Amino acid sequence: MGTYDADLLVIGAGPAGVAAAVMASSLRMKTVVVEAEQVGAKLRAIGALDNVPGGWATGAALAEALASDLTRHQELGRLSVLSDRAVRVAGHDDRAEVALDDGRVLTAPAIVVATGVTALTPGDVAWIEAPKSRWMPPLWRAATEDLEGHRVAVLGADRSLGTWLRAHPQATVYFHVLYPEADRYKTDEVADDQRIHLDLVDYVAVAPVQDGFRISTRGPGGVGSHTFVVDAVLSNMGSKPAALPGLITGTDGYCPPDEQHPRILVAGDLKSARMQRIAVAMGDGGRATLIPYYKANAVPS
Ligand SMILES: Cc1cc2nc3c(=O)[nH]c(=O)nc-3n(C[C@H](O)[C@H](O)[C@H](O)COP(=O)(O)OP(=O)(O)OC[C@H]3O[C@@H](n4cnc5c(N)ncnc54)[C@H](O)[C@@H]3O)c2cc1C
Repeated sequence: MGTYDADLLVIGAGPAGVAAAVMASSLRMKTVVVEAEQVGAKLRAIGALDNVPGGWATGAALAEALASDLTRHQELGRLSVLSDRAVRVAGHDDRAEVALDDGRVLTAPAIVVATGVTALTPGDVAWIEAPKSRWMPPLWRAATEDLEGHRVAVLGADRSLGTWLRAHPQATVYFHVLYPEADRYKTDEVADDQRIHLDLVDYVAVAPVQDGFRISTRGPGGVGSHTFVVDAVLSNMGSKPAALPGLITGTDGYCPPDEQHPRILVAGDLKSARMQRIAVAMGDGGRATLIPYYKANAVPS
């Protein structure tokens, strides 16, 4: 292993990072995982799952299973987990390295970066104008009891909407979903739910009024404007890639795997906007590990 800190460094312990780490440890690679929050941090907010093989009904159950997998490999002595935030990665001829928030720099022959995405806020998108002083909670954090019986505007039609509706099948809510053209392809899976009204817009302005918010919208092509008042506004605009400095990003901010330094592999949601699923992330993580493994062991492709 030379003077490296590990055979493989893995940044992020979501489904992609855990799959990468478990694959590496099973191949007897000394593996260090760096996680800023909690194993499966994102998964824990998913109230209902129906597309992950293995019978996982909630994201929290899957997150616990992933944490157990890491613990089992830690006990085998081949894997360790650091609670820290990665702040930069770099690829060099002889090594890859990651700088951590606490000032440490770790090295390995290769790094798998699987930091996923973070939520967009109204300030990140051009189609919403909203006062900065009023923070709108994300839909996926909303509690049913706070919403029932209220008229709620949901800004954006990201897939969290379908997840929330499936997780709360008995909730008597009314969601007026205002979404831009870019979100249209995500609306199919929720279109038949009677509890939502889907409203394609070009622009939305949100202004606080007594006991609620005034919503002003402009329709597609700037045609048709409406104003109405709701009790609450939730954000559901999707996410932006959690790309670390040192990664190559495309125009959309995502990190194309083929354009990275050969010692830096990216996996999971960080790769692209359209393939963001747990099962995809897991496959990606395992695949990312096999690339440096085969290279180090000179296995012909
Ligand atoms: C509300 C919601 C519902 C969803 N529902 C489904 C569903 O039903 N089915 C489905 O297949 N998918 C669903 N998804 C998508 C799914 O969660 C993702 O595709 C999957 O979690 C991606 O895995 P990942 O490992 O790439 O990233 P993530 O799961 O986001 O994991 C990234 C990890 O990296 C850590 N991290 C980030 N930055 C750093 C840093 N700088 N240093 C160290 N660690 C860092 C994070 O804390 C996190 O633990 C849903 C997502 C959301 C938000």
